[in-house]
Amino acid sequence: MTDRTDRYCDVALPRPVRSTFVYRLPADLTEAARPGMRVLVPFRRRRMVGCIDRIRAETELERVRPVLDLLDDTPLLPEKLLQLCRWVADYYVAPLGLVLRAALPPGVLAESSFRVERVEEAGAKGADAGPRSGAASPGPGDDLGDDLGDDERALLERLERARDGLQATTLRRDTGVRSVWPALRSLAARGLVRIREEPPSTSSGVRTRQVITLVQGLPTLMARQEAFGRAHRQREAYEALEGMDGSASVVHMSQRLGFSRSVLRGLEEKGLARITDEVEARDPFAELGPPPERPDLEPTPDQGRVLNALESRLEAAEPGTALLRGVTGSGKTLVYMRLLRRLLERGDRGAIVLVPEISLTPQTVQRFRAAFGDRIAVLHSGLSAGERGDEWRALHEGRKRIAIGARSAVFAPIPALGAIVVDEEHEGSYKQSDVPRYHARAVAVVRARLEGALCVLGSATPSLESWHNAAEGLYRLLELPERVTGQRLPTVELVDLREEREARRARAIDRADDAALGAGAGVHGASDDAGPLVLSRRLGDALARCLDRGEQAILLLNRRGYSTFVQCMECGKVWSCPRCNVSLTYHRDRERIVCHHCGYEARVPKACDACGAEGLTFSGLGTEQVERRVGELFPAARLARMDVDTTGTRWAHHRILERVRRHEVDILLGTQMIAKGLDFPDVTLVGVINADVGLNLPDFRASERTFQLLAQVAGRAGRGERPGEVLVQTARPGHFALQAALRHDYVAFAAQELEDRLGPGYPPHRRLANLVVSGPRQEAVADLAEELAAWIRGLVARESLEGVDVVGPAPCPIDRVRGRWRWHFLVKSDRAAPLGAVLRYLSERRGQPSGGLRLEIDRDPDSLL
Ligand code: ADP
Ligand code: ZN
Repeated sequence: MTDRTDRYCDVALPRPVRSTFVYRLPADLTEAARPGMRVLVPFRRRRMVGCIDRIRAETELERVRPVLDLLDDTPLLPEKLLQLCRWVADYYVAPLGLVLRAALPPGVLAESSFRVERVEEAGAKGADAGPRSGAASPGPGDDLGDDLGDDERALLERLERARDGLQATTLRRDTGVRSVWPALRSLAARGLVRIREEPPSTSSGVRTRQVITLVQGLPTLMARQEAFGRAHRQREAYEALEGMDGSASVVHMSQRLGFSRSVLRGLEEKGLARITDEVEARDPFAELGPPPERPDLEPTPDQGRVLNALESRLEAAEPGTALLRGVTGSGKTLVYMRLLRRLLERGDRGAIVLVPEISLTPQTVQRFRAAFGDRIAVLHSGLSAGERGDEWRALHEGRKRIAIGARSAVFAPIPALGAIVVDEEHEGSYKQSDVPRYHARAVAVVRARLEGALCVLGSATPSLESWHNAAEGLYRLLELPERVTGQRLPTVELVDLREEREARRARAIDRADDAALGAGAGVHGASDDAGPLVLSRRLGDALARCLDRGEQAILLLNRRGYSTFVQCMECGKVWSCPRCNVSLTYHRDRERIVCHHCGYEARVPKACDACGAEGLTFSGLGTEQVERRVGELFPAARLARMDVDTTGTRWAHHRILERVRRHEVDILLGTQMIAKGLDFPDVTLVGVINADVGLNLPDFRASERTFQLLAQVAGRAGRGERPGEVLVQTARPGHFALQAALRHDYVAFAAQELEDRLGPGYPPHRRLANLVVSGPRQEAVADLAEELAAWIRGLVARESLEGVDVVGPAPCPIDRVRGRWRWHFLVKSDRAAPLGAVLRYLSERRGQPSGGLRLEIDRDPDSLL
């Protein structure tokens, strides 16, 4: 007897609440179905594409809906990758479907949508309308209106203007009607609209293009005459194709050469050519021109030593994790490239390279491309869905063996993974800020372990978590203590802003005296004495000398805009965002005041709307103002500014950096995005306009982030033949993070910071989860936060969980964002396991709160703001 009984499967759907849903597998699909394959299933009123998590023999559920279709012949996700996704879902307490959506190329897990069309009533129009026409059945839009509600009327009105109907979501957006469905159903019941479900796309995201290829030759003139007769355009198209080796894309033929589709179809109908779909493999980096030519460098003795240590681990059954601490310019990238080359040589294994943000690290990416050519897939967030799909396929099928990309590349489908490299492993951007809130470094370590691959974490300034793990012997520590060029690390000097301000005041008094005595202005030359302090005398002089020598400088200020604070001098009013509890930043380029959290913008006030006074002060320095002031002080210098506001377009970063590389820019200034990975030999001066911006944030990583930023940006100076100089302006020169940066002393910094975190029990000493409750009403938010914190305290006591505490709740440091109040509390734990258990239990038992409230669980948070 064959087993004809139905089986069931758990299907992961990209829905925010529950992890998986049970469906029945019809008998004809049970044979082929495997975990990791995609299925089409009914979900509420629509159809969705999900992924099979597990197949099971039975279910306790009574009513189980059937799987409608199986969409893949082989699992889209290899077994190990699915296992990894389950781990992420579990550890970060996120629905598996959302993890899979983050791991797969966009559009692979789709859902159906609803198209709404206006129904033209047959009877109401036309001369031959039957007897029903006239009084009984009113025409569209005229006098049927009395019993329609406002919402229904608004929807109908919008639909009148849309010939092919509209998506329900578009209707909601365009009309502002909140709950479109009751209104749409009532309209449909009256026969005024028709609602059609459009099935979800079930493709796996591969973009194709059409190609036309000649299949029959016409060697003689006679044959041509016979084939085309008076169809001149067909003949021209045929001959154009001959001139292109017999094949071209349809788009090229029609748009560039002007042959209509019907001409091309004519060739096909005559049996002379064939039009086929070709998988299009695009190379977005091709737009950027060839990568820099590099000779094949020989590793230095230090690099060789590190390489040997890593290569020997490749052979091990459990290669484990290595932490590579190498100062800036010590040649870590070459080590990675050599390691991967060895991996490829040894057989059919592949690798993943994670970089913080591809658009910010084009030099690194170009070096890998130069080394690995078409064996490397570049996964870039700027890629279209189709482009991502192409690269994903190429990796999945083993046509490419190495993936390089930001955070989500940790999920790249490499069939036999040999190594994962996490470059700049300390970077905060490896942590995803929405569900699933995973940390790509942690996922990399776990994935490597699952697949028997080697994990290499590299940085000049490792995260304290990794440093601690190395000290505990969990990671193998490898070091590159010197720069490859033999050049010493640049000298760092702190410039005390308090003294500088004092000196400016003194000069101002002098000047006033001079003026009183009738002396001429400008006695103090090019000093920067008006407005907020941008360049100290020390930094101004150094910049002047650097420019005189024809070298380049980098100026860092980690705050964009012109002024970060607008205030009334009379009544003290500060302009802040109506939706967020933050002050608005004045942007001079756009002449607007802007919220950096939600994007809210308003006109720049001329007078105070609270008291009517006209004296407004604009204070707090941003990059726009630095650009303007430096431009005034050094009119001959060529400046480029790089921050979020100047890098909106796809390749903007790259274009700016190209200009710097070609030495068409003398001074590059910007936010932290200029601190990473840049390797320009002519840069000999780095100036930090104000190091205190990040130091003063109320966050437990403030010191760590500041030290890392200073070490990274300092590392941009003196990478070539000439020595570098770094000047850091600060009002807190005694701070230990700055003192350590001064001496390039990571080890001392880490020791002090680890000690400081011991008392409050912050990572890496203890494990942390930040639970944030948000909602439109502050009271309800506070109440729920109190209640959940008490609930967890009760659980911890009841189960006598050791080493777990709850701290809080309290308002978040930024306690309102986008109109939602935010309260948080922390769950701290000595070990990871009980923390995970508590969070999962909370999520299962309490789910998501109702009434507009939301609970975010952020495990291993990057910040507590
Ligand atoms: P890091 O990533 O550690 O800051 P890089 O990998 O960017 O350092 O290397 C710094 C510079 O040294 C680069 O310009 C690189 O081309 C060069 N370099 C690296 N290794 C060698 C080597 N073995 N011989 C010569 N130059 C090297
Ligand atoms: Zn805002």
